[in-house]
Amino acid sequence: GQCVAVCPTGALCEKEHIWSVVDALADKDKIVVVQTAPAVRAALGEEFGMEPGTLVTGKMTAALRRLGFNYVFDTDFAADATIMEEGAELVDRLTRFQNGDPTVKLPILTSCCPAWVNFFESQFPDLLDVPSTAKSPQQMFGAIAKSYFAEKMNIPREKMVVVSVMPCLAKKYEASRPEFNRDVDISISTRELAHLIKQANIDFVNLPDEDFDNPLGESTGASVIFGTTGGVIEAAVRTAYEVITGETLEKVDFEELRGFEGIRNATVKVGNLDLNIGIAHGLSNAKALLEEIRNGNPKNFHAIEIMACPGGCIGGGGQPYHHGNSEILKKRQTAIYNEDKNKVLRKSHENPFIKEMYKDYFEKPMSHKAHKLLHTSYEAKEKM
Ligand code: SF4
Repeated sequence: GQCVAVCPTGALCEKEHIWSVVDALADKDKIVVVQTAPAVRAALGEEFGMEPGTLVTGKMTAALRRLGFNYVFDTDFAADATIMEEGAELVDRLTRFQNGDPTVKLPILTSCCPAWVNFFESQFPDLLDVPSTAKSPQQMFGAIAKSYFAEKMNIPREKMVVVSVMPCLAKKYEASRPEFNRDVDISISTRELAHLIKQANIDFVNLPDEDFDNPLGESTGASVIFGTTGGVIEAAVRTAYEVITGETLEKVDFEELRGFEGIRNATVKVGNLDLNIGIAHGLSNAKALLEEIRNGNPKNFHAIEIMACPGGCIGGGGQPYHHGNSEILKKRQTAIYNEDKNKVLRKSHENPFIKEMYKDYFEKPMSHKAHKLLHTSYEAKEKM
């Protein structure tokens, strides 16, 4: 938070955060774990002269390993966990709503974008019980790394440093929120990672493709699409559909939720329920959609996805500059959908390492332990 406040351009803070990473990597007493957000792999290549829309997942992983990270993990794993929790919350609220429970709040709002969380805490303090309480993937990852993974590997919490690579500058602020207990120690942007790779003289373009480490490196197509507007809610619907109907979802592509319009809505059939979904990206669109909810939710939305940046995280403030060129954003979006299409598993609840984690550690979504580690709460903030 301080960083963003003290240094609005981010330039000074960026330098500091890069140095913190370099220090952590040089400290032999530390186990340094890195996680990379879905949108990073669809844009990092641009910093090395590659065409916009080139997926560099494998090269990025190889570069992180050469930089010296002890474990190269993926925020996508935590995005799958987010769907387990947020999907369960959606199903719970929908079921209670259908059974006539008057206390239930709908629509449920996605909560993975910290710029938007900040925004509603100050602008919509009367709607704080509407957003999902699920932590963002960045924070879920931090909590999982420093509990489940640390215990599994016998790594004392104080020895572990969690670094996140995010398309986003607001994630730096999110990581510093006191309630998150420094689960994520350092958050750097896509541009900062490019800087680190260049500084280390790594020949990025000619790196081989390498895989993430396990268990926190395995992910499904559902988690990849978190990087684009419409993706989080599509991922949630893929899982909620199977939970609610008990049937296998054969066609996982929900074209009706995709696109670039600033505010979109669609109705998806889930068994005998018509699920009304609203999507907004860009803060002014987000605001317009929330005012609609405040004014009585005339379109009867059950679920809403909001991302502060145009295009979602692919257009985040920490990405290679796209200078307002929406063609670049569209290419990044296509790259994200291609990555999803190429995955064998495309529903979060099918991730084998997620299944194992729930079996061994959390028991089930929204369990006591899951609430403690994977959920958060919101606070009304002064208008800035
Ligand atoms: Fe960050 Fe923008 Fe993504 Fe929100 S939409 S999480 S502000 S990159």
